[in-house]
Amino acid sequence: NVFKEGLAKTRTAFAQKVEELITRRKKIDEQFYEELEEILIGADVGVNTVMQLIDELRVEVKKRKIEEAADLQPVLSEKLIQLMKGDDHAGLRMAASGITVILFVGVNGVGKTTTIGKLAHKFKNEGKSVLLAAGDTFRAGAIEQLEVWGQRVGVDVIKQQSGSDPAAVMFDAVQAAKQRGVDVLLCDTAGRLQNKTNLMEELNKIFRVIQRELPDAPHEVLLVLDATTGQNALSQAKLFGEKSGVTGLVLTKLDGTAKGGIVIAIRNELSLPVKLVGLGEKMGDLQQFDSEQFIHALFA
Ligand code: GDP
Repeated sequence: NVFKEGLAKTRTAFAQKVEELITRRKKIDEQFYEELEEILIGADVGVNTVMQLIDELRVEVKKRKIEEAADLQPVLSEKLIQLMKGDDHAGLRMAASGITVILFVGVNGVGKTTTIGKLAHKFKNEGKSVLLAAGDTFRAGAIEQLEVWGQRVGVDVIKQQSGSDPAAVMFDAVQAAKQRGVDVLLCDTAGRLQNKTNLMEELNKIFRVIQRELPDAPHEVLLVLDATTGQNALSQAKLFGEKSGVTGLVLTKLDGTAKGGIVIAIRNELSLPVKLVGLGEKMGDLQQFDSEQFIHALFA
């Protein structure tokens, strides 16, 4: 299971506590539910999702006449997987032919550049040609940082000077991608998400430029979220995710946090799929998300 190692911290804070509770209390009673609720909220599963989960567990426990806490664990896993329902096996949407364009949005520091680097590496390993677009012309050092990743992975970066118009960078990048016949163009954007209007304006301009050149693009607009920020990541997803043309989420730094329960809240409370998760700082630490594997890794 690819998630197991990366989820060590969440496993300690969440699954191990559940297991400890089951062993300690033995019977399912009010006290048990209360403590379970506390553990789930502590692991950032989110109050709404926790309430829903506990309600569903109560129903299931009655229906199946479960009395021993030990018998609850498989039901809990089952319910958690159900809560995370959806199309998380879908993978990334790729162009039927020609260039696939993937846009990355998200506030500074969430791991956008790193995710682009890792994904470039993944595509390259699959034999695809990749080009990067340095669309974050706002943050000092963003272009250089993307270039470092480009060198590390062995792919070119299309850039302009710091402070230039990101839409102009995208125009250049699409032209270059066409000329070179690359398979995938991965585009960084500025992390100016203080308010929705900024994001929408900047994205709209970028969309227009890209679509004029490639009518089917962008194929994905991925909102990158930092899992270590827990509930904050959920708020960002709610604020920017559902109306800004975002097609999927990337949750980074799951390895660095005990708040991995946030994935459950995000899947339950939003209709956006989690497409990728970051499980470390290295090139290979990026995985396609799978809720069943995720829950099994937690309780493994
Ligand atoms: P950006 O500002 O959104 O482009 O963020 P960066 O890509 O520069 O990442 C910010 C920091 O988070 C860097 O130190 C990265 O190494 C780190 N980072 C990114 N993704 C992960 C991850 O999945 N796990 C861990 N542990 N660190 C990550």
